Amino acid sequence: MEALILSLAVAAVVGAFALPKWRLQRALAQAMPQHHLDILNANIPVYRRMDAGLQQQLHKLVKQFLYQKKFIGCAGQHIDDEVRVTIAAQACMLLLNRPSRVYAGLDTVLVYPSAFMAPRKHVDEAGVVTEARQDLLGESWGDGRVVLAWDHVLDGTRNWSEGHNVVLHEFAHQLDSESGSNNGAPWLGDRASYQRWSEVLSRDFANLQVDAMCRQQSVLDHYGASSPAEFFAVATEAFFARPHEMASHHKQLFGEFLRYYRVDPRAWLAAPVAAAPPAFYGQPAYGQWQ
Ligand SMILES: [Zn+2]
Repeated sequence: MEALILSLAVAAVVGAFALPKWRLQRALAQAMPQHHLDILNANIPVYRRMDAGLQQQLHKLVKQFLYQKKFIGCAGQHIDDEVRVTIAAQACMLLLNRPSRVYAGLDTVLVYPSAFMAPRKHVDEAGVVTEARQDLLGESWGDGRVVLAWDHVLDGTRNWSEGHNVVLHEFAHQLDSESGSNNGAPWLGDRASYQRWSEVLSRDFANLQVDAMCRQQSVLDHYGASSPAEFFAVATEAFFARPHEMASHHKQLFGEFLRYYRVDPRAWLAAPVAAAPPAFYGQPAYGQWQ
């Protein structure tokens, strides 16, 4: 009897741990469906310029993302494969060429048709609480949720080189949170890397704050001047969407992001003819950390 109970207990433990892994491996072993490849080709302009090795990596990451994450449509948003693959591909672009658990802390992607209203509470120094509702394009939460406005997801990918990409932005926040705090420093490994990261990003963050105050043009969206966490998210957008301009105007910052992201998006995008960056002020706010 005891032997039977022991075998049942062992079987339960093996089932609990081995079965999900086996199911995931089975899902990853299947080829990406042709209509998913068609969506990548149609909606992700940089995908077409990646070499075959990176494309294969992206396929595997996207399959894992789609297998593990739940998508929920809000306010009437329909969730179809175009929504799922377009979001997953951009999120997984941040994970290429490095070991990753594919946003292990993320459970759910909530998608609205367009900018959504979110309640906000502000307490000032005198203790006065102000409640407000803010129009948002995206939000990244530490409890396993990312929220996105689908029309802005499409706008960001179809106008890639304009540098506003709400998916890259919110998933950069997710990477930031994996280090244990949302402070603009994702997991970097060794002490020397953190020191170099801190020096370079602190300097460029301070410069962006001055640019924002003086309404000076910048490759980086002035929204990045609001906090180190937003700076990392905004610089991630620029790294993947406007890499030539970022490399030329923020050489050391670009070098840090090359080391961290382990891809060079300059290979996927033609250098712009005009070198002057557009002005970034008065842009709508992306999601804030809660
Ligand atoms: Zn943000």
